[in-house]
Amino acid sequence: MNTADARRIGDELEAVGGMAVPHLEDADIVILYSCVVRHAAQETVHNELIRVGQAKRQRPSMRVALAGCMVEDDTVELARRYPFIDRFLSPKTDLPVRDQVVDLLDLDERYRVDPSDAERVGLVSQPVTISQGCNRRCTYCVIPFRRGDERSRHPREILREVRSLGQRGAKEVVLLGQIVDRYGKDIGTTLGQLLAEASEVDEIARIRFLTSYPVDFDGPLMEAVATLPKVCEDVNLPVQAGDDAVLRRMARGYKTMFYERLVDEMRSVIPRLSLSTDIIVGFCGELEAQFENTLALLERVRFDVVHVAMYSPRPGTASARLWPDDVPQEEKKRRLHEVERVQSGIAGEINGRVVGTTQDVLVEGQRKGKWFGRTRNNKLLFFSSDRDLAGLVVPVEATGASSWSLQGQLVDPVPTRIIPHAPRIAS
Ligand code: SAH
Repeated sequence: MNTADARRIGDELEAVGGMAVPHLEDADIVILYSCVVRHAAQETVHNELIRVGQAKRQRPSMRVALAGCMVEDDTVELARRYPFIDRFLSPKTDLPVRDQVVDLLDLDERYRVDPSDAERVGLVSQPVTISQGCNRRCTYCVIPFRRGDERSRHPREILREVRSLGQRGAKEVVLLGQIVDRYGKDIGTTLGQLLAEASEVDEIARIRFLTSYPVDFDGPLMEAVATLPKVCEDVNLPVQAGDDAVLRRMARGYKTMFYERLVDEMRSVIPRLSLSTDIIVGFCGELEAQFENTLALLERVRFDVVHVAMYSPRPGTASARLWPDDVPQEEKKRRLHEVERVQSGIAGEINGRVVGTTQDVLVEGQRKGKWFGRTRNNKLLFFSSDRDLAGLVVPVEATGASSWSLQGQLVDPVPTRIIPHAPRIAS
């Protein structure tokens, strides 16, 4: 989401005559999009801010803004700690990006130039924020406190952004929301409807969306994924834990049985669905037996991808206030590695079954002399070709697999399904 929001403000800066520079030291304007979902992320932002502070000392005219979830309601403490920050862009206020830029640069709006010649986008796949904030209060999560209540962007505005990205070389959009499957509920539309409308944008070949919340994933959305050809059969559905007592303390609002039934239904409605999930290990009071229930759930559900994180108490959240962070760090690490070990076996098997099939791959670029791209199921696939294939959808036969990626061979000849106007990718 930070990447998507940063691109939007970058576009806007370009529209008023700005230009991206590769080195921080050369920038007149620096806007840092911050994440504080876990302590480690916050440390990364802190280190980056130190670097920005040093650069500004060398170049006092530099204007610095901090955006993203580090920006609290009260910025006094942040301003004291990082006195070189000129502006705070709160993720709670929905000032249009253009106004943010006009404000940040003290521009007179008359100076605004036409953005029609905005540069081509660098990446084939582009994230697009479609809703802000979150109304849930998962006890461990700081995001709602920083991003505020849920509000959907108007479809017209989103579609304008998707069209612009398509015209500038993007082939795939990833629609983003904290609870993306609730998109539109506050403005009388639905994610299914938006997926159908975004499918009309000719230049865009593929559409993905994340993150979905289990209780909000309804039948019509399943139908939309199953029937809209551009929408990939790939869903990110965080379960967080495989134990009902832990889920209750997380205030997730469902039990494991509900989750597993939902997955069964999704798999019956959406053929060839790939599923990824998020897991938190070492949540307050998580007993060994409860952790093992999570491992058992992974074995039963068999996700394609699992993102696992160690619980990290966040300021202002219910879990940080109510319960001690009582699973020792070493034990959290052990549980994390245990999840990774179990999952890598499962992913290896799932990917192994792809070997021998031909997959439509949207080619993203080159790495170490090989082309790489993603299958509809979001699997990374590497293969060789002398041709420039960036931005094309090409058929590739999978010939090898690991837990993390696939290798393959281009099926010749590349059929006429190719999409025109391939963007060039710097490798
Ligand atoms: N709105 C999204 C979550 C975005 S945060 C959702 O509900 O899925 C991404 C992931 O970070 C979460 O799914 C969760 O697994 C993890 N996370 C959030 N808060 C955390 C915390 N305090 N400690 C560890 N992991 C956390």
